[in-house]
Amino acid sequence: MIEVEEQNTTDSASRDVAVNELASHLGVRAERGRRFAELTSLRVGGAIDWVLSPLDETAAASLVHELDQREIAWRALGSGSNVLADDGEHHYVIVSLKELKDQPVFSGNLVSVSAGYSLPRLCIDAARQGLSGIEGLNGIPGTVGGALWMNAGAYGQEIGTVVETVRVARDGRVCEIPGHEVKWNYRHTSFKEGELLLGATLSLHPDDSEQIRARMEKAKNQRMATQPHGARSAGCFFKNAPASPIGTGKMIDDLGLKGTRRGGATVSPKHANFIVTEGEEAKAADALALAEEIRERVKREHGIDLEYEVELWSSK
Ligand SMILES: Cc1cc2nc3c(=O)[nH]c(=O)nc-3n(C[C@H](O)[C@H](O)[C@H](O)COP(=O)(O)OP(=O)(O)OC[C@H]3O[C@@H](n4cnc5c(N)ncnc54)[C@H](O)[C@@H]3O)c2cc1C
Repeated sequence: MIEVEEQNTTDSASRDVAVNELASHLGVRAERGRRFAELTSLRVGGAIDWVLSPLDETAAASLVHELDQREIAWRALGSGSNVLADDGEHHYVIVSLKELKDQPVFSGNLVSVSAGYSLPRLCIDAARQGLSGIEGLNGIPGTVGGALWMNAGAYGQEIGTVVETVRVARDGRVCEIPGHEVKWNYRHTSFKEGELLLGATLSLHPDDSEQIRARMEKAKNQRMATQPHGARSAGCFFKNAPASPIGTGKMIDDLGLKGTRRGGATVSPKHANFIVTEGEEAKAADALALAEEIRERVKREHGIDLEYEVELWSSK
């Protein structure tokens, strides 16, 4: 991805011609007039200039190379379940990975999967094959690429621990790198801005399908009991603070902030680290204002600077 700069009308018209040509040359679906409110799980956020959806990993690698060559700013998007994009006009290209969703290929303990494949679906597929290692991730409503990008994790498992190799776009080609060369930290990795993840091979271990399913069911029930179900959210808004013995959700709850509402955004009454949006009028600005208010309160009462787990995307 490239720094987004102010564009004048001529620049933007010539960029649009280039994007159009590129998309038709590479057989990539190109859409205009989409909004983050349609493409993210918080269902808020402003207009996007272009959404480009490559249909296979090779086309995706070529696409971002060509965009870089032409200095056209872009960002990758999976299911949009960890993004809060502001309400402004976003003058860059969204490269959507959602069409990279071929059936995973299982071979022994290994499974090769493309970036746009649904993580929950992959967990179910793996359980059917009698393969364990990712069943705790079943309730994370994103793509494999989004999970790899931030080392998604839940119930004692993280995707990074089972990655054998990752396929990334480099110089227009699909390049495979060993998983151990990536730093997999708490909801953060060493992947760099501007790196497009195309897929991965995961190394799982054999176990009894029924037992794997039972663990998946247990994790699902725990989620249902502790998190808002069917609400417009992005999961946990803030990371747990390393300096604090108590989780961020509990910290926010103890401050009595559950149910606090700003415009169309509310601190979930079920889980205080979830901000949920409601209604047609909800704005990204509402969620952000509420989040900043939470950060200020936590800073004032506990001296802790909460770090966002959700990614904030600015149109400026
Ligand atoms: C109800 C709910 C529960 C959740 N629970 C959890 C949980 O338990 N644990 C957890 O870790 N997360 C959780 N999340 C957050 C979220 O689902 C995960 O972070 C998920 O991995 C994001 O995947 P995505 O495809 O939606 O990524 P997006 O939101 O689309 O993108 C997130 C980031 O990844 C980048 N990205 C996405 N795909 C690629 C790619 N192919 N190449 C390069 N960059 C890419 C994007 O540019 C962006 O920076 C939850 C979210 C919700 C809504």
